[in-house]
Amino acid sequence: MGNSFWGADMVRESLRFLVVMAHPHDFTHVAGTCGIHTRLGDAVTWVGMTAGRMTHNERLADELMKPLEEQDPAIVNQSEDDYAAEKTVELRKVAALFGVEDVRVLKYTDKPYVVERQRESVDEIRDIILEIRPHIIFTQSPFIRGPHDLKTVANNDHTETGVAVMEAKLLAQLPRQGQRVAPYTTPMTYFPGVYFDQGQWDFTVDVTDFFEARVEAEALYRSQGHTPEYARRRVELTLGNAGMFAGVPYAEGFVQESAQVVSQITLSDYTLKKGTQTREDQINQVGGQRS
Ligand SMILES: [Zn+2]
Repeated sequence: MGNSFWGADMVRESLRFLVVMAHPHDFTHVAGTCGIHTRLGDAVTWVGMTAGRMTHNERLADELMKPLEEQDPAIVNQSEDDYAAEKTVELRKVAALFGVEDVRVLKYTDKPYVVERQRESVDEIRDIILEIRPHIIFTQSPFIRGPHDLKTVANNDHTETGVAVMEAKLLAQLPRQGQRVAPYTTPMTYFPGVYFDQGQWDFTVDVTDFFEARVEAEALYRSQGHTPEYARRRVELTLGNAGMFAGVPYAEGFVQESAQVVSQITLSDYTLKKGTQTREDQINQVGGQRS
């Protein structure tokens, strides 16, 4: 007996995705994959733990490098709230490029006070999980590591977000006195490959069709000082590097929280065709010429 997804009828169940990230720019790491799934008709919700008000204000940093009398008052006097609002507008525009309309930016603050992992914020994610009841969560890696395999104990918005989501998932599974909604177990969580070595990735998604959208998205983060030239170069190098690893032009890598139970072994089209592909086909595939 197979399940409906892989069963003989091959009916594809539509999926609900919940993406929880620390800062507005972090969504780019999974954006191409989100675009593929909204095109398939899947539901995708983006939840930003913070508006990134204390993160990547390169414009302010550069202005403060100047002598006082040369500083632009419009930049040095911009309030944190205005900067946060600017970033939220950018995030909504980025989300729209990938068909994501449900974008929520929570009120928590980022540096220097990482507060994601507080009872209130964990509870808020729990409530969102119970509302959306996602099949798949994308969130940041809750694992910490550092140079020479040393683990840091310093707070980091990304790790804190990953840990908060893990705690919230557990809380969503547990019944609470007085609640009227059924507890919920999220079947699968994937972490963006950018937080891991490529050899640790479980799979890569061919996001070549979303390359231009990724470039456009990167350039939209003007509050972080991004330029069109920087955007294209960055996406070419990062998605291109993942693509080179995967054998396609551009890819996004993922690490799974746990291995799936399957009714049978299946191989993706990309993996299957390795059996018959010529070396020329392989090179052309990375070069973007589809066979
Ligand atoms: Zn970030």
